[in-house]
This record gives sequence, C-alpha cells and structure tokens, in this order.
Amino acid sequence: MINKKNLSQALRNNLMRRKMTQNSDAKKMQQIYEGKAKIIYATDDENLVIQYFKDDATAFNNIKKDVIFKKGLLNNAISEFIMLELAKQGIKTHFVKKLNEREQLVKKVEIIPLEVIVRNIAAGSMAKRLGIEEGFSLEAPVFEICYKKDELADPLINDDHAIYVLKVIKKSQLDELRKISLKINEILQKIFLLANIKLVDFKIEFGFDLDKNIILADEISPDSCRLWDVKTLEKLDKDRFRRDLGGLVEAYKEVAKRLGIKL
Ligand code: C5P
Repeated sequence: MINKKNLSQALRNNLMRRKMTQNSDAKKMQQIYEGKAKIIYATDDENLVIQYFKDDATAFNNIKKDVIFKKGLLNNAISEFIMLELAKQGIKTHFVKKLNEREQLVKKVEIIPLEVIVRNIAAGSMAKRLGIEEGFSLEAPVFEICYKKDELADPLINDDHAIYVLKVIKKSQLDELRKISLKINEILQKIFLLANIKLVDFKIEFGFDLDKNIILADEISPDSCRLWDVKTLEKLDKDRFRRDLGGLVEAYKEVAKRLGIKL
C-alpha cells in the first residue's frame, strides 16, 4: 500500500540510487560480458559497470580478425570526448567517467538489441545493397535499424519487425530513439566538421537505465563511424582495417588530434 511514509522512502531510495550512479570509486568485480571489441565488468555498485576497450578488430561479422596495438586506448579517449560533448548538449548517455587508458565507468543498462545507423553520405552496406556509388550526399539523413544478433549477421529490419515481430521496443520508444539519433547526428556532424572531418555514417546503441529511460550506451569512435577528411576524402576510420588500407592507428590518432584530445 502506498502511504506518505512509503512514498518518501521510495523518493529517498531513488535519490540515493542516482547519487550512487555518480559514485566513481566503484570497485571492479567479475567479467559479465565479452564482446568483439569490449569487455564489461561488474562493480561493487549494482548501478555501474566498467567498460574495457580491447585492441581486437573484427569485420564482416567476425570473419576478418586482428589485434591492433593501441586501438582500444584511442577509442576509449575519443568515445569519452564525444559522450561528454553529447551530454553537454542534453543527450542522456551511460558515460560516467574515464578510469584509465582502457576503461570507463558507465551506468548499467539493459541494452536494446538494435543497432541504429544514421547515414549522411552513401557508403558501406547501403551503397552495396542498393547498387549505388559511394560518396554522394544524401538529401536527408537516413535512419536504419538492424537486429543485433551475431548468428544472423545483424540483419537490417524495419520498424514493424522491431515492434511487432521481435517485440524489442515499443512504437513510442522507437520514435523517441529516432529523434535522439537524428539529434546526435546533428551534434556529431558539427563536432567533426570543426575538425575538418565529414561524418559519413555511424552506428549507435541504446539501453534502458534503471528508471527505464532510453539512454545512449556502447561507444562512439572511429570503430563505429565512417569519417572522411573534408578535402582529400581520406578514410580515418575502421574501413582502413575492413579494406586493408593500413594505417589504422595513425588515422585514429589523427582524429583524436583534430578533436583536440590529449593522449
Ligand atoms: O557496414 P555499414 O555501411 O552498414 O555500416 C554503417 C556504419 O555503422 C559504419 O559507420 C560502421 O562503422 C558502423 N557499424 C558498426 N558496427 C556494426 C555495423 C556497422 O559500428 N556491426
């Protein structure tokens, strides 16, 4: 039964939980998940986890693999910078703080099994699927969702698949997710343009926090974005690995340098 006493206790608990989310002294505990490029560790605070950036690079759903020394360190630094910039502009993210060269403290979320892709310039899988040349600017940003499922190679799906077939998200939530993603695109385009970089496309992931809010999770880095030099169109992202162009670490370092990140 809800009475005044219960209600104020609930409010106090909620406040405490929020405060704990700010706790940056959380102690690292056991590994709870290992993905292709990151490991997640529990902490002694049930509201927080540690995200560790590996040097592993994979492409084409794990068919192409390598270890690229220092890639994780660069992604950690670049993702920290971007998450902080997004937060400054009102985007709710899981990022709490960078702990060291390889690790970030982040809010624990229930990941929504969708990979959201926003495109500004035709490239990659969209260009291939639709049989079009890479490199032309799209009339408006294109929003795509893929079902995050390795066994199926993360297939492109539509809203109805996500809402009514897979039932991983409600319609109102997907509408919100689209709105947030397009806002993120606007912010990122500006950040990168100031660094003389074109944001071709990017992939983001979202999760539900403890209060069931949709917040940005995972990472935003040259692993998850296509970034081209404004003038030369040189690729400064993971396509250097996917397409055997070499110089991946140098490209990521260049992105960090242009964004003003001290390594
Ligand atoms: O390969 P595709 O053209 O669909 O990729 C679109 C964008 O999403 C690219 O920036 C790519 O780096 C990113 N992506 C990703 N992780 C995936 C698939 C795509 O970060 N599993």
